Amino acid sequence: MDLQLIGKTALVLAASKGLGKACATLLVIEGADVVIGARDRDTLETTAAELRALGKGRVLAIPVDVKKPDESAAFVDAAIKEFGKIDILINNAGGPPFGSFESFDETAWQSAFELNLLSTVRFSRLVIPHLKKTGSGRIINIVSLSVKTFLANSVLSTSIRMGVVGMAKILSNELGPDNITVNNVAPGLILTDRINDTFPKNPPSGATREDLLAERAKDIPLRRIGRPEELAALVAFLASPLSGYITGTTIQVDGGAIKAPY
Ligand code: NAP
Repeated sequence: MDLQLIGKTALVLAASKGLGKACATLLVIEGADVVIGARDRDTLETTAAELRALGKGRVLAIPVDVKKPDESAAFVDAAIKEFGKIDILINNAGGPPFGSFESFDETAWQSAFELNLLSTVRFSRLVIPHLKKTGSGRIINIVSLSVKTFLANSVLSTSIRMGVVGMAKILSNELGPDNITVNNVAPGLILTDRINDTFPKNPPSGATREDLLAERAKDIPLRRIGRPEELAALVAFLASPLSGYITGTTIQVDGGAIKAPY
């Protein structure tokens, strides 16, 4: 299927690795010009080099901390300077720490708010004027399956991302007349560094890595952890003109992990 992304310009945040990198990779493969951002310059440049080596869409790498307003504005300015327009915004960031409600103080809540909600608000505000000019904009927010089902130890992620879902619903309504769609993609368990870091450094004796992966996936109907490119496939479709009648929704990529029947 031709996703009709050749010539589109996409901003992909938190894209030096993990889900953001997978999204940027597929968009580049499909011919989009992509601006990737993350904080660590070296990792970001390594990823940019990998994407350029694909020989498809053009790639610009701009270091950015999405919690910082000045860096965020400079990121968008640099994208416009390089490509002259923006068609697609993929709002993504690192995740807040896992833990119980009582383990977090106000500083942790403030930090999660800035990382996962305020950054989404800020980038949307910066990019919407440019999307309005293209006549077919796309905003896609990476959230978490915890906005649809209970996920233990994810009080920061769950609470803050509910705000993103609420914001996206309002935005989809307000931006519909401008032919801009706004959707959320909710990862279940997808194997990235964030998930790798949750495995024990010294597994119980005799347990292999495959054992640990299988144990983690035992309640997932597809009986496996997802791959980043499986989430990227949905994001690329939602970023494409083919998804033009889908807006204001949250779609999970979770191997069936959410047990609710809708
Ligand atoms: P990851 O593999 O740890 O990658 C995180 C990416 O975010 C890196 O490129 C990192 O680069 C960047 N980043 C972190 N903080 C940033 C900041 N302040 N400004 C700009 N970039 C920043 O994580 P992931 O698994 O891809 O997760 C992406 C998002 O999906 C997270 O919000 C996570 O909570 C959510 N999610 C993931 C899963 C899953 O199963 N993987 C499930 C549910 C939700 P730098 O450190 O260099 O900035």
